[in-house]
Amino acid sequence: MKEFRSDISGFYKLSFEERQQKISKIVNLNQEEIKVLQNLGYFTTTQIDTLIENVIGSYQLPFGLAFNFKINNKDYIIPMVIEEPSVVAAASNAAKFARKHGGFHSENVKSVMISQIQITQLDDVEIAKRSILENKDQILKIANEQDPFLNELGGGAFDFEIRELDTRKGKMLILHLLVDVLDAMGANVVNTMAEAVSPCIEELSEGKIYLRIVSNLASHRIAKSRATFDKDLLGGDQVVEGILNAYEFALADPYRATTHNKGIMNGIVALTIATGNDTRAIEAGAHAYAALKGQYSPLTKLQVDSDGNLVGEIEIPLALGIIGGMTKIHPMARLALKILNVKSANELSQVAAALGLAQNVAALRALASEGIQKGHMNLHSRNIAKLAGVPDELIEKVARKLVEDKKIRVDYAREILQRIENEKNL
Ligand code: NAD
Repeated sequence: MKEFRSDISGFYKLSFEERQQKISKIVNLNQEEIKVLQNLGYFTTTQIDTLIENVIGSYQLPFGLAFNFKINNKDYIIPMVIEEPSVVAAASNAAKFARKHGGFHSENVKSVMISQIQITQLDDVEIAKRSILENKDQILKIANEQDPFLNELGGGAFDFEIRELDTRKGKMLILHLLVDVLDAMGANVVNTMAEAVSPCIEELSEGKIYLRIVSNLASHRIAKSRATFDKDLLGGDQVVEGILNAYEFALADPYRATTHNKGIMNGIVALTIATGNDTRAIEAGAHAYAALKGQYSPLTKLQVDSDGNLVGEIEIPLALGIIGGMTKIHPMARLALKILNVKSANELSQVAAALGLAQNVAALRALASEGIQKGHMNLHSRNIAKLAGVPDELIEKVARKLVEDKKIRVDYAREILQRIENEKNL
């Protein structure tokens, strides 16, 4: 047998179809698998082939809708792309609990991104700093020449901050170029600007510049949302007390806070994918922000009002765009933005923050009452049935039995399938 090797050169030079044929041969795909590979869904070959490198197919995920959201007095249907069961239903539920008290109140989010420029090998940090600051207008002018259209629309580089870092390679000056990227996520925009201003800054500072890149800790682009969740709809005083205890647990323990925030990101990332935005940027920013004060902490705050209702708040950096990147290229992302009916990146971030808060409250409610597994397992049972090789037409029947018998396991699904087949053969 031929040795399996991963150093396949020139794969990218092959046509899309040739790549599919080559990989099919290498890993020995059968006819059914080749058919899956060839199904590009709503993408054309040209569209998919130009997005990343070495493309061989397209990958689909469920696209669901969360309902009941009222944010700043406007109703939204929120598109979510996620593989995990229960998340969409949970968000819709929590939104209903908040709706009774007016829904969510989200604040305006300014689309300000930071581009970092790392200045090293400085003889005199103070002189370098002064020289850069004295030429601020010139630096901002060069930055803005890179994207005249953005400038015309009212955005662009408007200021910078300089930080001093003590490192093992000596003192460095880190210049944070601040750019209003309006409706874009902005990474490309600010990277271009940082690269363009670097020669001028190098000359002014007499230092050596290495990195010139966006910071994903978008600390000037913080989204805040707040809502009151009805005590009775949540399940009464006991459930609210359980949620508050869960919150204290997360405040005191990074192990718990990580899972607390993962629940928030279930919602935010699902909307991020649906709208064609960069999930890694959103995740990295959120978790860095959660740890900014020293201890990794929850991104939400929870308390009760004088009537015993739960008041929730969220604060999270959100670099989301409705223009640029994949947002206008991906057919489903375009559709998602249409369903969502948001007119700006600011509005999208306001929705995302509300969704994250709803998701958090929904998860804590389940944990503080019947436990997370009940709701989860109903849907999960279908996946287990599928995994056990149950044919599509019997999935529902087998899944129901798994839940009924409280044995949501692959081996038990196989046992039930066997029983059904035996009955048929009688
Ligand atoms: P982009 O490069 O497509 O730029 C958006 C362009 O749209 C701007 O040049 C602007 O002139 C134009 N525009 C038109 N109308 C606008 C409006 N109303 N508001 C703002 N801009 C408007 O997109 P981007 O947002 O700069 O970059 C996003 C992409 O960069 C994502 O795909 C992301 O994955 C990728 N990226 C991320 C990182 C990172 O996060 N570290 C690094 C590099 C690239």
